[in-house]
Amino acid sequence: MRTQIVAGNWKMNLDQEESLQLIDALKKSTFQSQAEVIVAPNFTALSACATALSGSKIGLSAQNMHQADKGAYTGEVSAPMLKGVGVNKVILGHSERREYFREDGVLLAAKVDTALAHDMQVIFCFGELLADRESGQHFEVVRMQLTEGLFHLPRESWTNLILAYEPVWAIGTGKTASPEQAQEMHAFIRQTVADFYNSEIADNCPILYGGSVKPDNAPLIFSKPDVDGGLIGGAALNASDFTAIVNAL
Ligand code: PEP
Repeated sequence: MRTQIVAGNWKMNLDQEESLQLIDALKKSTFQSQAEVIVAPNFTALSACATALSGSKIGLSAQNMHQADKGAYTGEVSAPMLKGVGVNKVILGHSERREYFREDGVLLAAKVDTALAHDMQVIFCFGELLADRESGQHFEVVRMQLTEGLFHLPRESWTNLILAYEPVWAIGTGKTASPEQAQEMHAFIRQTVADFYNSEIADNCPILYGGSVKPDNAPLIFSKPDVDGGLIGGAALNASDFTAIVNAL
């Protein structure tokens, strides 16, 4: 069976102290599902969060990283730096990185390569804009994002990949894809991976849904067969909401 995962993307919220408070609350939470739980605090909080999470089952992810291991890249953070503070997962390709920081498929492919070369697990995000969906281009856009970012990888790399389908029109907007829309796209994604690689890789790859998942809509979205969990933004900042979402799996 595929791993089920709920990951919380804390974005540029919560300083170190607030991050530690949330981790403390999550450690006290009762997670009733078998889902793997991951949190992604900001860079400055990662080291302290790694210490706070040691011995816990909750995984820790960065929200981004640079594609080079080191060098004259003012303001950037590398994979070895993340590994050095105990972080072995990274979110790449989030729509906010694509939109505000102009991260494109070529750059993301390089970041994915670097993360995997350092044996990091990658949560790779992609999804269409509202205009793409309204013009019926959403499947093509998603296929293109997968092709550009991931389809150069050898088969072995796929054991370290988690896909996160996040329709941009649903992120932070309070609008979610309907459970049927999510299932339709997740099935398409899995078929696209199966066509390019094989059905074993596709069947084993977790595909998360992201976009305004809340405790009240999570059960229906997660009930769909190709939805293996969620990438959660706003609702991940509240321990009881996040716990309820995990327990919806
Ligand atoms: C996200 O940023 O990945 C996300 C899904 O945010 P939200 O849950 O707030 O829509």
